[in-house]
Amino acid sequence: MKFYNTKNKKQQELEPLSGNIVSMYVCGPTVYASPHLGNARSAIIYDLLYRVLRAKYEVNYVRNITDVDDKINAAAKENGESISDLTERVTQDFHRIMAALGCLPPTHEPRVTENIPEIIEVISSLIKNGHAYEAEGHVLFDVGSYKDYGCLARRSVDEMQAGARVEIAPYKKNAADFVLWKPASEGDDESAKFASPWGIGRPGWHIECTAMSTKFLGETYDIHGGGLDLVFPHHENEVAQGVCAHEDSEYARMWIHNGFLTVDGEKMSKSLGNFTTVSELLDKGVNGDIIRYAFLTAHYRQPLDWNEKLLYDAKNTMDKFYRLPEIEDAAAKADDELSSYLEDDLNTSKAFAYINQQISDYNKSNDAELLTKLLGNIKFMGFLNYSVDEYFGRADDDAEIDELIAARKKAKQDKDFAEADNIRKKLDALGIIIEDNRDGSTEWRRK
Ligand SMILES: [Zn+2]
Repeated sequence: MKFYNTKNKKQQELEPLSGNIVSMYVCGPTVYASPHLGNARSAIIYDLLYRVLRAKYEVNYVRNITDVDDKINAAAKENGESISDLTERVTQDFHRIMAALGCLPPTHEPRVTENIPEIIEVISSLIKNGHAYEAEGHVLFDVGSYKDYGCLARRSVDEMQAGARVEIAPYKKNAADFVLWKPASEGDDESAKFASPWGIGRPGWHIECTAMSTKFLGETYDIHGGGLDLVFPHHENEVAQGVCAHEDSEYARMWIHNGFLTVDGEKMSKSLGNFTTVSELLDKGVNGDIIRYAFLTAHYRQPLDWNEKLLYDAKNTMDKFYRLPEIEDAAAKADDELSSYLEDDLNTSKAFAYINQQISDYNKSNDAELLTKLLGNIKFMGFLNYSVDEYFGRADDDAEIDELIAARKKAKQDKDFAEADNIRKKLDALGIIIEDNRDGSTEWRRK
């Protein structure tokens, strides 16, 4: 199978280091707020990649939980809750949302707070190897000491500095030097303070991922994934740390990045008021499978615009998936044709076109063998996580439908045929077919 590798800007055949085991690290959430749509897109894409890989290989998939970060400290203060309460609450919320979106749990989900000794060890190696220095309670990575800095983002140091809005500080040798360890600030919650050879403080974000990927996957591993917005500085810094701390290592061999997300054509931001969390969508009754499908319709490397039409189209397709007859215990299994599309840099457009073709073929033929294949393909892509009743929200809807039918009957009795017709249209839009009996009663069923 082949994927586009950001490192050499080429489609590249996956050749795992250890034969039949693939090691993959994906940057996980910083647990200070509920996941937004951008987080969800990334999680769903790497979940699909994980499913494709594990069909052929044993996969060691690591996605971290960043539970130490300035944003966490700030949010805890703002909410008036302790750091541990905040991170625990948001982590649980994240897990609930991942399950709702059909994302499988990774093999390992390390938390920064549980890996401080490993982080300290990598920082110590960097100092020992002459790639990091201590200054005013901070430890900084010395960008000037690593000639290949910029190899992943393929930018010059000047361009990178301009792009990264680097913090200018008098104790830095180069403006681009980044923090590996920073001193605790006054008023910091005790749970965000850790002892180190450089004083009480906490690690920088970049070093966390390097330390945790090394611990679980080794100094050189197969795949690193994340959003395109992480290429610089986060991933660039991860490579620099990994390669400089561990001689003769490559760090990640293949870098896979997913494209940007816009909402109604604009960048998602709190100030524009278009900042949507997955929780909000689920609360509005949008099914997790619909959200998952919407995110997978665009190729993962392309930008995706989130809008009403996208969601509407996704719902229509998902309705078709859920209207297929159920086969008990139909296994999630991709057939050869579906595999060929997914193993070609996750070509989801071709994958869905194929599944939709299979649905039309099935609707014409009612062929049982085709149905088994088709359900296997749909489940392989991570759908059909809900029962048909849950998906169509039947229990809740029934009362509403009965009310509409009663209102229509009354409108007809009152000879308000326009109103009766309106109600019939409304029922039709809800996917309800009605049949009037001779005795004046009405029966209904779902399309
Ligand atoms: Zn990371």
